[in-house]
Amino acid sequence: MNPFSFERAADVAGAINLVHAKAGAKYLGGGTNLVDLMREGCERPETLVDVTALSTAIEDRDGGGLLIGAGVRNTAVAEHRGVRTRYPALARAILSGASGQIRNMATVGGNVLQRTRCTYFYDEAAHCNKREPGTGCDAVDGFNRIHAILGASPSCVATHPSDMCVALVALDAVVHLEGPNGARTLPLTDLHRLPGDRPEIDTELRPGELITGVELPELPLAQRSTYRKVRDRASYAFALVSVAAALEVENGTVKDVRLALGGVAHKPWRAAKAEAALKGQPATEASFRAAAEAELTDAKPLRDNGFKIELAKRAIAATLGELAGDKR
Ligand code: SF4
Repeated sequence: MNPFSFERAADVAGAINLVHAKAGAKYLGGGTNLVDLMREGCERPETLVDVTALSTAIEDRDGGGLLIGAGVRNTAVAEHRGVRTRYPALARAILSGASGQIRNMATVGGNVLQRTRCTYFYDEAAHCNKREPGTGCDAVDGFNRIHAILGASPSCVATHPSDMCVALVALDAVVHLEGPNGARTLPLTDLHRLPGDRPEIDTELRPGELITGVELPELPLAQRSTYRKVRDRASYAFALVSVAAALEVENGTVKDVRLALGGVAHKPWRAAKAEAALKGQPATEASFRAAAEAELTDAKPLRDNGFKIELAKRAIAATLGELAGDKR
């Protein structure tokens, strides 16, 4: 690991000033991704600015909704009564991720900003455009069972690993940002990028910007939401495919729906085509399957991950069926 200096920020303005003032400075949350990447030589910050003491509350908002501070640990979010009762998909997504020890350390801001990556990214001997731009991507013709089927590019076929973000994207979460040029908000769906020809850039963050919180809007249908994760083993594994969904059915018809997928793209994937296909349709298995087909129309498999297309369709249909009252 390269030498680096360490600072602890007293407040948000101080943190931004520290990172802005020092080239090669990065914010540090729980360190469960960044420190790993530093050990492997994938990241070489010269200064770490610890922001874990900032924005550590979960607050009710006046119009309903919750504002979750970026420094809140993942475990605390999953255990929060308001999250469990009003946004159960989020609690379930968090509890399906990583391990108990990692969830105790990881912060909300850090989880959102963990790198999109694959195993080749960690391997110094591999060609990886994300690690070293312009060197190629060994995953494209390599072992690519866990890689993307939607929105990928010849430059990078990695998937975003967060479970939490899939639920947040489905639940219309908005990210609160502060930076050298002031504060702004951004829908979480717009924060993460598809790889295009710049896969080394994961997000639309501007230089020096700090995530201070993630806001969940008042969303009554979210009380009927869930998260389903399909993976190779029962714990501590990234999703092959995951589904976050919220469903409102009235008189047998889909009145409203939110749907997002994980494990399929460089970013948490809001399933807008499926949502559009479902609204106003009968809440039946046939409708759920048709919506899944619509979402996966543009899926492009790699050599080893063609199974993900059918897996995603079945996972979508089963999750919606569960919310509609099926016993699957
Ligand atoms: Fe690197 Fe992306 Fe290719 Fe993986 S898929 S080797 S992260 S460029």
